[in-house]
Amino acid sequence: MSDENALKFVILGEGRVGKTSILSRYFNKKFDDSEQSTINPSFYKKKENFQGKNYDLNFWDTAGQEQFNAINTMYYTGAVGAILVYDVTIGETFEKVKNWVNTLKEAVGNDICFVIAGNKFDLTNKDMINKNNELVDAYCKQQNCKHFYTSAKSGYNVEEAFSDLIKTVLNKVCSSNSGSKNTRGRKLKINEDNKNKSKDKKGCC
Ligand code: GDP
Ligand code: MG
Repeated sequence: MSDENALKFVILGEGRVGKTSILSRYFNKKFDDSEQSTINPSFYKKKENFQGKNYDLNFWDTAGQEQFNAINTMYYTGAVGAILVYDVTIGETFEKVKNWVNTLKEAVGNDICFVIAGNKFDLTNKDMINKNNELVDAYCKQQNCKHFYTSAKSGYNVEEAFSDLIKTVLNKVCSSNSGSKNTRGRKLKINEDNKNKSKDKKGCC
């Protein structure tokens, strides 16, 4: 398969919110309670056929650098989609998601597709969720992005969050490849210089 059909996705959020666990749940269909904070960078691959064309979806995981504010630009370069994760039991991690979104947009452009995952849903109660909804609703509306409560532990909504993101990105890639005005006829994959041309665009999803 040519590189042209390779699409890069990244996962972002504070340390210990469950990024590695979410990826592991989606790709390995399992949750390991004893999973330590990521030591090695990980990379997950998936093939997807969309509208008769094959795509390589490459999901990057951090190597724990987020805990030292040390994610380098290589991590973001070329990304067309992202999952932003926070821990629903720690409100502060949602506030930090806003910083991650800003950093991501600065790195790859405002039209990056992303979804937000409020992870560790299995540890919540109704009051916690009601309070959390107030926090996230306005922000997600403003960013025009979707929000999912997820649990890497039970698997709740993990598939849904990934599917939604992947579908949105593939739709965007296809309309871009067929010359839609969205990306002015340029292929979406070549995203490195998107930040220069799309500073004032709204999010795509
Ligand atoms: P990362 O640093 O964001 O990659 O977070 P990890 O995936 O390493 O997870 C940090 C800790 O949270 C680990 O002890 C996980 O077992 C735990 N964890 C991750 N997701 C969930 C979840 O959905 N529910 C619960 N109860 N624990 C989780
Ligand atoms: Mg990790």
